[in-house]
Amino acid sequence: MIDLRSDTVTRPTAAMLDAMMAAPVGDDVWGDDPTVNAFQAKLAEEAGKEAALLFPSGTQSNLVALIAHCERGDEYIVGQSAHTYRYEGGGAAVLGSIQPQPIENAIDGSLPLENINAAVKADDFHFARTRLLALENTIGGKVLPADYVVKATELARERGLATHLDGARLFNASVATDTPLKQLCLPFDSVSLCFSKGLGAPIGSALVGSQAFIGRARRWRKMVGGGMRQSGIIAAACQHALEHHVADLADDHRRAARLAEGLATLPGVKVTVQATNMVFAHFPDKHIKPLSSWLKEHGILIELLYATRFVVHRDINDADIDKVVAVMEAYFSRH
Ligand SMILES: *Cc1c(COP(=O)(O)O)cnc(C)c1O
Repeated sequence: MIDLRSDTVTRPTAAMLDAMMAAPVGDDVWGDDPTVNAFQAKLAEEAGKEAALLFPSGTQSNLVALIAHCERGDEYIVGQSAHTYRYEGGGAAVLGSIQPQPIENAIDGSLPLENINAAVKADDFHFARTRLLALENTIGGKVLPADYVVKATELARERGLATHLDGARLFNASVATDTPLKQLCLPFDSVSLCFSKGLGAPIGSALVGSQAFIGRARRWRKMVGGGMRQSGIIAAACQHALEHHVADLADDHRRAARLAEGLATLPGVKVTVQATNMVFAHFPDKHIKPLSSWLKEHGILIELLYATRFVVHRDINDADIDKVVAVMEAYFSRH
């Protein structure tokens, strides 16, 4: 199957599985898994932060970051379409007693500065205490403008807020803009990074930040069940991805652009966004059902909703992109 539903569908390579098999392991809850410790040290260095902490998922890494920044009755400013707010089951509120203060994302994924400023509440016992600004990069595949990130995080600091970045796909932003990871992490107090998406690890995310922040996060990670034992097996996969898969993201971006070009030539199909490894396209309503079945019959998995998202990843090659376009062309030539 050519699976374009998400970059989470990537399978570990033989070399990655070898690295996992060969990893020396200990008990990470006791802090003595050498592979986890080496990975965390290396990642912290690459991200330009004091410390890093391995997590089983990006959802848990984000949740723990929010809880480590905020206390009960605090709130965090976040985008309406941000993953932490929209796609993580409301965990900050449910498990963290943290109130989200969502604001509308602009078309480029940013949160307008004046809206951030207006959302910060006065020190008054009627209000939740605004404590944190959370951004996301990439968001819907789009790279946040670098000058915007600097301004938004400066504003947050001026208003006494901490800053967190959901950087599930920050490596895509780094490769797309040829900017070191360190530079993209610099404006933020904490960053969550995912290795199980375009980087191809089967499991694994990590949080980076100051020593004190990661110390608090370790406590919360244990509480939410994220303390793992011989997790060097997971860290080895993440370490392998960090060393060998980051540069390959450029191929995903190139292939996504090529897919967008192909889709744009189809009758009635409108490509709305192509950014990093994602393509969003609009298909006429009457085609959605028959086209979905047609694609599935031809070995292509894609969720054809109103705003269809195609996600390109390392298990998709040039021939796959050509096949997707050809199968779509064949459909439209018959309908
Ligand atoms: C995937 C993703 C996460 C975390 O997802 P998990 O499936 O829990 O690892 C967080 N933020 C964004 C933007 C994501 O795309």
